[in-house]
Amino acid sequence: MERTLKKKISLYLKACFFLLFINTVASEESEDINFGIVIHGGAGSYENLSPKKEKAYKDGVNEALIKGYEILKSGGTSVEAVTEAVSILEDFSLFNAGKGSVYTSKETQEMDASIMNGLNGMAGAVASVSTIKNPIRLARAVMEKSPHVLLVGEGAENFAKQNNIKTVDPSYFYSEKNLQRVRELKKDNKLGTVGAIALDKQGNLAAATSTGGRSNKMPGRVGDSPILGAGTWAENGLCAVSGTGHGEYFMRQLTAAEVCNKMKYLQMSLEDAANAVVERLSKTGAAGGIIALDSKGKMSAPFNTAGMVRGMYSREEGKTIKIYKED
Ligand code: ASP
Repeated sequence: MERTLKKKISLYLKACFFLLFINTVASEESEDINFGIVIHGGAGSYENLSPKKEKAYKDGVNEALIKGYEILKSGGTSVEAVTEAVSILEDFSLFNAGKGSVYTSKETQEMDASIMNGLNGMAGAVASVSTIKNPIRLARAVMEKSPHVLLVGEGAENFAKQNNIKTVDPSYFYSEKNLQRVRELKKDNKLGTVGAIALDKQGNLAAATSTGGRSNKMPGRVGDSPILGAGTWAENGLCAVSGTGHGEYFMRQLTAAEVCNKMKYLQMSLEDAANAVVERLSKTGAAGGIIALDSKGKMSAPFNTAGMVRGMYSREEGKTIKIYKED
């Protein structure tokens, strides 16, 4: 009897040591990961940008970048990091997402957003919502709390209420500037869609994108941002991508997923794959850009417009924020 007890205790201790060993190895591995986050605040001409406005764009990206990086540094997931980073940008009136969303031709505001978890391929998206303070939070709730991938309009807004996602009166999104833009410059498009992609200490990738769409769009028009594979994609072991630009082209070319597919099937590097999809956008006459990140923490942000507000922050490379190509 005593021998059996001794045997059991010794087995128990062995199991404890084994678990301790496994844990140490795992945490050592995660310390090696070049975790980090990349953010964009839209591709466009950024013509005649005053130094004050340039600073405002960079400050917005900086705030989101720091928040996302801190989450990753303290062991948070890439999904948390991209959700919080995009939420911050949605609260700035400067960017074309959340509070800064542009108007449709009928002077309404309809927002789109999506998020994807590279760990398990789960995704959530919302389109044509007008009362959600942070559409990216609702997209995440669709991913985590519903059996669906994409909810639109009223159904999405009801789902928000059931899940304690903050709703606001549409007047919250009112912007004299955006209204003037759609009234006077019917052809003009305010660029400034926002997106974030991240790699966490566990090696998991995630991507998120949020937008007010294109200024003067037809009511009911949905762009690439909430379409998985077009404006947003994340696949562990390969890449995470968020796009900005003329959404119709991103949808037809499945731009975001195409980066990962080129890596998977053609063994292209992240940079070559990212450049190739932007080249295709250029050849077909589309303006835009993407941010891309691979599972080793390599980052790339090609675009074919004069500028793309963007920031990168990784454990190995530190932080950079740029607007123009030659910055
Ligand atoms: N891609 C967005 C859309 O087409 C707009 C943008 O990024 O500027 O809705």
